[in-house]
Amino acid sequence: MSALLEVNGLARHYPVKKGVLLQKQVGTVRAVDGVSFAVNRGETLALVGESGCGKSTTARLVLRLIEPSAGSIRFDGQDVTRVDGAAMRSLRRRIQIVFQDPYASLNPRLTVGDAIAEPMQVHNIGNAASRRAKVQELLRLVGLAPFHAERYPHEFSGGQRQRIGIARALSVEPDLVVCDEPVSALDVSIQAQVVNLMKDLQARLGLSYLFIAHDLAVVKHMADRVAVMYLGRIMEIGDKRSLFRDPRHPYTRALLSAIPHPDPSRRGKVVPLGGDVPSPMNIPPGCRFHTRCPFAQERCRQEEPALRDIVPSHAAACHFAESLPDPGLNYAGGLS
Ligand code: SF4
Ligand code: MG
Repeated sequence: MSALLEVNGLARHYPVKKGVLLQKQVGTVRAVDGVSFAVNRGETLALVGESGCGKSTTARLVLRLIEPSAGSIRFDGQDVTRVDGAAMRSLRRRIQIVFQDPYASLNPRLTVGDAIAEPMQVHNIGNAASRRAKVQELLRLVGLAPFHAERYPHEFSGGQRQRIGIARALSVEPDLVVCDEPVSALDVSIQAQVVNLMKDLQARLGLSYLFIAHDLAVVKHMADRVAVMYLGRIMEIGDKRSLFRDPRHPYTRALLSAIPHPDPSRRGKVVPLGGDVPSPMNIPPGCRFHTRCPFAQERCRQEEPALRDIVPSHAAACHFAESLPDPGLNYAGGLS
């Protein structure tokens, strides 16, 4: 598989200013602090972490909604941070987003048909008649009847609105869809339907997904590979099976132990994470997870661990990734 999106050493730092005229810089928020990953063609990479870990900022950087402080983003071989003009417009078409909140992301004054057609209009694709035909096709594709084009967003349920959001993103035939917690606002029963729809669309259209989520349970069925973020960095990244069955970072283990196994007799004990997430303005020295890690040693407070391969296609940023005690937990949590 070749990489469609390649992110290298990506960072986004914000100065924090104080004073009446905000003239005094009192600190720096390191929202994204040196992140590298790739999304291969036709695959789903899930980016998972607690709120404030930098996953949404990473999404905004990839979409070029904000500029990076450092690092590079390559899409289909092009340096995203250097293109402009026609090349930039083409990139903006080829990378689309599905938002978390289907209520907020649709304009209440536009019919569903107009909302779905809007990106085609922005990118000068087709004429009014061909766009109308495409809207009908897209509605069918996401499992909604074509006559819904004349209706308004408030007439639909959350799950239906997210289908409309997906149809809108697909209207310009993107290669990569950035999904920013697309099912977090939906009922659990509806989440599975939307996830299944997204998987089905991926297979039919050859889409690649950068799928952002705050817990690992949601990405269990969706992802091919998973990256776990903490305080602006990737702590562990790997093939989903390997990462769920044999997590090598204490933070990933803590997140996984919170997912109940469907069979109660195979449930391990939940290991709650101690302490709070430190502020991204005050990232701890050494391993940034050491203030919450049950295995922290002196070395962890001094030396930042590199993200390194532990087994093929599976890397972790922990000095002791090979020698952590066997927790005796069944993490796989119904992984099929
Ligand atoms: Fe824990 Fe140390 Fe590993 Fe960091 S490097 S995750 S503090 S054991
Ligand atoms: Mg977010």
